[in-house]
Amino acid sequence: MLGKKKNEKKQYKNYINGKLIEPESGAYLDNYNPGTGEVYAYIPDSDERDVAAAVKAAKLAYPEWSNTPAETRSRLLLRIADIIEQNLDMLAAAESEDNGKPVSLATSVDIPRAAANFRFYATAIMHQSSESHFMPGMAINYTLRRPLGVVACISPWNLPLYLFTWKIAPALAAGNCVVAKPSEVTPRTAFMLSEICEAAGMPAGVLNIVHGLGPKVGRAMVIHPEVKAISFTGGTNTGREIAKLAAPMFKKISLELGGKNPNIVFADCDFPKMMATTIKSSFSNQGQICLAGSRIFVERPIYERFKTEFVAKTYLLKQGDPSSNDTQVGAVVSKAHFEKIMHYINLAKQEGAEVLLGGNQKIMKGRCANGWFVEPTILANLPYDCRTNQEEIFGPVVTITPFDKEEEVLQYANSTEFGLSATVWTSNLNRAHRVAEKLEAGIVWVNCWLLRDLRTPFGGVKNSGLGREGGWEALRFFTEPKNVCIKT
Ligand code: NDP
Repeated sequence: MLGKKKNEKKQYKNYINGKLIEPESGAYLDNYNPGTGEVYAYIPDSDERDVAAAVKAAKLAYPEWSNTPAETRSRLLLRIADIIEQNLDMLAAAESEDNGKPVSLATSVDIPRAAANFRFYATAIMHQSSESHFMPGMAINYTLRRPLGVVACISPWNLPLYLFTWKIAPALAAGNCVVAKPSEVTPRTAFMLSEICEAAGMPAGVLNIVHGLGPKVGRAMVIHPEVKAISFTGGTNTGREIAKLAAPMFKKISLELGGKNPNIVFADCDFPKMMATTIKSSFSNQGQICLAGSRIFVERPIYERFKTEFVAKTYLLKQGDPSSNDTQVGAVVSKAHFEKIMHYINLAKQEGAEVLLGGNQKIMKGRCANGWFVEPTILANLPYDCRTNQEEIFGPVVTITPFDKEEEVLQYANSTEFGLSATVWTSNLNRAHRVAEKLEAGIVWVNCWLLRDLRTPFGGVKNSGLGREGGWEALRFFTEPKNVCIKT
């Protein structure tokens, strides 16, 4: 079902009103394989006409879908989860080719999580209830939670299918019809999702996927008057643009934005566990995870030991062809992003960084000779408030900084405009609670990282976002409460 003829460049289509169709413009954009630097597929260069057609289809489908029993909606979403799982290897290979991430990561994390997103919300709606407030002898209030109508979901390139489905699944489960846009940089698994939806028997118009450029397609979705809410994950500047457009139209918005997360290592931590996890929180997905712990603060008594082991273990990471099963660090997502990361590494050098490891483009041989690879890079000796330590790089680049006192490290940790996540390593329970409470972040991990329970609220404070996803939070976002008060 999801296969294509070998050696033929794929040409994706929009999924509108249950059909795979060409963009109105008839134009296509190049889709690159970051591992090889080659164009390997073409993406519809859609515009506001395609968005208008998608919204029209979604609006038409809404009355029936919103009144479909939760059990029926649930069954459809479970079918989609099953098909994703049945096609795990093919989807993982596609995600790796499209994004540059190691195929092992796509197989173990990205694609299983996409299936889990559908399964989680398919079952959540079977248990959803709404509040009732009783006023003895006077009245009873009950709250109706109705879907919003047509909603927009816009996602980034770093965890393509994982984040795309993290938005679409709760929106559909709650009874909305969706117009969705993946990043134009990584459209492939979103296109495959349209084929999966066809195979699962998704009614026409319930989910529509429009490919193309953010400022064209994404913007048209945000300003379309029939779109009632926007769930967005991406950069802080794009989030700001969306907020500016949506606010005067009184649209609901959920913004999951950038991060510059602290990883705080106290001397009393379980050192081997901390080290193994810190390697992952620094370099998994080439550091292109919004939750990556890119600023590492180490208590001075273990700073030298940390530095030596961290550099030695990172040096051993196998960087290579993303499609090889033993690759641990792949390519970064695009030429533009490669240049952004290299720019930041140069900036760090100008700011006086000591480069403990990496700091250069990784030159590959063979098939990947023209791919975009950056060496895992470890920087030291930078002040906590320099640009390298304040701005999101979103690549395989971390800084390490020693500290002496708890208050001091809290000041460092909280010094950025961001507040997405933080990690704390300590065996002192009192300190763990104390520090977790004082960290300005939406998520704090103690002695772990990226341990996700989908029921928990997910999101950031400060410029890392607005609103929360996950669990009931997402179902609340995608529904409108209405209180009904009946006098007894
Ligand atoms: P962008 O903000 O550039 O893009 C995100 C999405 O928005 C893409 O689909 C993009 O389309 C689209 N877009 C771009 N401009 C507009 C616009 N004017 N109106 C509407 N949509 C638009 O982010 P990246 O794709 O570069 O992703 C990286 C960023 O995402 C990082 O900052 C990272 O921290 C953040 N992120 C946050 C997460 C969180 O949960 N908080 C999780 C993962 C990533 P196109 O690609 O075509 O430009």
